Amino acid sequence: MPSYPPEPFRIKMVEPIRLIGREAREAALKAAGYNVFGLRAEDVFVDLLTDSGTGAMSQHQWAAMMAGDESYAGARSYFRLAEAVKAIFGFRFFMPTHQGRAAENILSALLVKDGQYVPSNMHFDTTFANIRARGGRPANLVIAEADDPANRHPFKGNMDIERLRAFIEEVGRAAIPFGMITVTNNAGGGQPVSMENLRQTAAVYREFGIPFFIDACRYAENAYFIKLREPGYADKSPLEIAREMFALADGATMSAKKDAIVNIGGFLAMNDETLYQQACNELILREGFPTYGGLAGRDLDAIAAGLWEGLDEAYLAYRLGQTAYLAERLMEMGIPIIEPPGGHAVYLDAGRLLPRIPQSAFPGQALAVELYREGGVRGVEIGSVMFAHPSPETGVMVYPSLELVRLAIPRRVYTQSHLDYVAETLAKIKARRDGVRGYKFTYAPKLLRHFTARFEPLGG
Ligand SMILES: *Cc1c(COP(=O)(O)O)cnc(C)c1O
Repeated sequence: MPSYPPEPFRIKMVEPIRLIGREAREAALKAAGYNVFGLRAEDVFVDLLTDSGTGAMSQHQWAAMMAGDESYAGARSYFRLAEAVKAIFGFRFFMPTHQGRAAENILSALLVKDGQYVPSNMHFDTTFANIRARGGRPANLVIAEADDPANRHPFKGNMDIERLRAFIEEVGRAAIPFGMITVTNNAGGGQPVSMENLRQTAAVYREFGIPFFIDACRYAENAYFIKLREPGYADKSPLEIAREMFALADGATMSAKKDAIVNIGGFLAMNDETLYQQACNELILREGFPTYGGLAGRDLDAIAAGLWEGLDEAYLAYRLGQTAYLAERLMEMGIPIIEPPGGHAVYLDAGRLLPRIPQSAFPGQALAVELYREGGVRGVEIGSVMFAHPSPETGVMVYPSLELVRLAIPRRVYTQSHLDYVAETLAKIKARRDGVRGYKFTYAPKLLRHFTARFEPLGG
């Protein structure tokens, strides 16, 4: 039996959840148009839709919220957050924002000009969209191993350094306002980036004089992967590793809804004073005064406490261990997943689990529906519903290489028995997989269709 470090906390407040009956689940699916985004959350038993903003805050965070200072300017809460950001990230300037995407918006609004390129290992979808919204062209230059679901590369989120250099030489330094890297690589399965790769990435950007920003959402999980997997880091603390990571960069964007374990918040940090002044003006226009940035004082205090808790070694061992535990249970049961599992989620390979369903009938969607039908479990399709599109030249459908369902694990929320339950639900689906049917759209908007599309099961 695989096992993982027990939760380094005990539970003193509970939120009841319930598994509604099979017929009620069937009715809920039908009413939602077989799209799990359309379900009422209270009808979901184990909700693995996302790890963003869904974590459980600690007693320290709740206590810190009570001490929140709601002054418009210069609140104590701001200075407590500034102290935590300075100690961990080390940048000269920072400003709170209401989410990660607000930080991305400010950076893109100030720096990206029409037709310019922003390279990264892989941009997260909000970063991608914010660069696009300013006429920019996001470029994903992750190593080739990231595309192979069976490749157990320890740092599958790494930048392809050769491709990065070739890319910069091809489009020219002047066409690149800044460069990025995402840790861990969310869009690529939550896979970590090694310190060596961060160092090489920074060196290439520096050689060309390109400002380097880290998308830092899961910086603590990335730091712990480095500790576990990279030679020379076993005896360093996650804090020391995080400091070393950020010392390589010129700034960072952060969604505090991830590794700062809060329900809302984010920030933008940088060393460049002129950029900071410009960003303050942009912030005042869209988010709020620079000492609160669209958040309440109490939110700033919760983030400050959460930034430290996210780096706690016992917490990180449990966190990454929990994800690995679910992955191992699934592999034992012969459920195909992306290997190795990342930090915050397990990705089910629906294409391999349901080989009788062609891509045009959405195997990932079918599996997401079955998870809810069988056990009231909610995951999210990351496959043809999200990405298939007609080729602009030929009109022929272009399908993604993989049909996946992501099971994202909220922080400090579910226990080992919840994960066992999820694994057993999948085993039951596997046992009757030949009877699982595909789907067709009854409604699909043009953009970001996965959120609001409606479906109907195909006959059979
Ligand atoms: C969640 C996330 C973002 C965006 O943050 P929001 O707080 O949701 O706006 C950006 N990058 C990565 C890698 C993320 O996971």
